[in-house]
Amino acid sequence: MSFEVRDKDLLGRIGRLKTRSGILETPALLPVLNPRVLDIAPKQLREEFGYGGLMTNAYLLKKHFEAQVTEKGVHRFLDFEGVVMTDSGGYQVLRYGGVAVTSRQIIEFQKRIKPDIAIILDIPTGWRTGRAYAKSTVLTTLERAKEAVKFFEEDDPLWMGPVQGGEHLDLVAWSAREIGRLPFDLYALGSPTEVMERYLFDVLVDMIAAAKANLPIQKPFHLFGAGHPFMFSFAVALGCDLFDSAAYALYARDGRYITENGTLRLERLEYFPCSCPACKSTTPEKLKQEGKAQVYRFLLSHNLYASQAEVQRVKQSIVEGRLWELLELRAKAHPSLSQAFQRIAKYAEWMEKFTPSIKPRGLLIYGEHSLRRPEILRHRWKMLKSYEKPPSSKLLVLLPEPDSKPFHLSSSGKIKKILEAIPAGGKAVHFCFYSPALGIVPLELDEVYPLSQFEAAQPYSLEMKRNLAAYIVEYVKTQNYSKVILHRDSRLLDRAHVRQLKEKAGIRVNNGRKRAWAEGSLQGLKKSLEEAVRGLRG
Ligand SMILES: [Zn+2]
Repeated sequence: MSFEVRDKDLLGRIGRLKTRSGILETPALLPVLNPRVLDIAPKQLREEFGYGGLMTNAYLLKKHFEAQVTEKGVHRFLDFEGVVMTDSGGYQVLRYGGVAVTSRQIIEFQKRIKPDIAIILDIPTGWRTGRAYAKSTVLTTLERAKEAVKFFEEDDPLWMGPVQGGEHLDLVAWSAREIGRLPFDLYALGSPTEVMERYLFDVLVDMIAAAKANLPIQKPFHLFGAGHPFMFSFAVALGCDLFDSAAYALYARDGRYITENGTLRLERLEYFPCSCPACKSTTPEKLKQEGKAQVYRFLLSHNLYASQAEVQRVKQSIVEGRLWELLELRAKAHPSLSQAFQRIAKYAEWMEKFTPSIKPRGLLIYGEHSLRRPEILRHRWKMLKSYEKPPSSKLLVLLPEPDSKPFHLSSSGKIKKILEAIPAGGKAVHFCFYSPALGIVPLELDEVYPLSQFEAAQPYSLEMKRNLAAYIVEYVKTQNYSKVILHRDSRLLDRAHVRQLKEKAGIRVNNGRKRAWAEGSLQGLKKSLEEAVRGLRG
């Protein structure tokens, strides 16, 4: 196996891809290099900007430099020791409708020039194409893939199998299933460029998910033409291990300065929000005096540094188990990313399966969107689907989440006192906490990760309270307690919710006042408990 996973979070992973030029750590961004316009020396990409690999175009190499590249091999031709991926001309098909080579020719050519990763000649579906045409691109790409695998040899580059289908998600899924059966080393999602150029990131989320869910999970997955760095975290969260992007150069040509939250027009900048070597070497003021060529070079450099920095942030967030939090942050950068973030929630159940159950850091809960994160969902599902209450318990007592954790040690020992004050027959009583973030937390489990390892923003939103009330009703219905008492904290549940609890689940609600842990409220709770326990015995 040439791909080894070291760390993971959501569907994102830190991996090590073995190639003939050495190991490429993923997620990796491969800057796209046009072999005819070498604005940046390929070796600079590696030595100055820290890129382990690049992508160039086999079709253009063949068309303009066939003899030289064949003789030297693509690495020596480019003077680049890192990982070289060659695209086959699929992009030229998409842009200019057809290329003057056959699929077999481009495979043979790539074998000769020896890149580390090579791609068969596919037919990109493109954007806003009719279903019949989309289907034909999938079929032709598949036919070519089936033909290509016959020529795969020991000494070959790693071969990449492209998934097509465009925005027709069932075709994407079908394309992925079919090509996933063929012995490619990596797979890729084709033709998302226009979707990205139009900022349709929610559509992109669906396309990536449809492909990824139907491909062999252990193989690396590439996203063609990934544009702006502000969406890298989304693509990685959905399982993309590699990207290629020409955005650094396209934006530079257009006078645009890349940041993790979007691009800025250079002429409007008075300060650089970055301290990369390029930004440290000049000021916006000085740049305004410079010629076009210098400004372009400056932007190229900064954009390359800024793109790589975002890849590093994504990787660090995987290691820390905080990729979801990075998505929440990036979702605020642009409404289209916010839409993508909401769309990702649709895949929460699937993402949960790949998220580690124990993480090095606690969870940060910013609001109702955070409830869709896998760790929270996992706990909430477990409580509804597989948790069994202590067998002898008949009375459920729901206490509001205290202000520190673990819950049972919190509130200056008051909780302990309540427990001790339970009259004989205490085994019949089951204590749980209710929490707008976690739903229900049984006392006996409150130290299990992440039930004591989270921070939530307060006051809780109405949406979170409403969600909590509905969840409590659901939980109570799944277990057969004979009686349920809820000690109310008005910061966690409003009056309307209390009514719902009473009507839908027959829950008895104690304490209408604000300070649930004040001596007076606790006396009230103790009294109702004694009464209830007596009732159980009777
Ligand atoms: Zn910079």
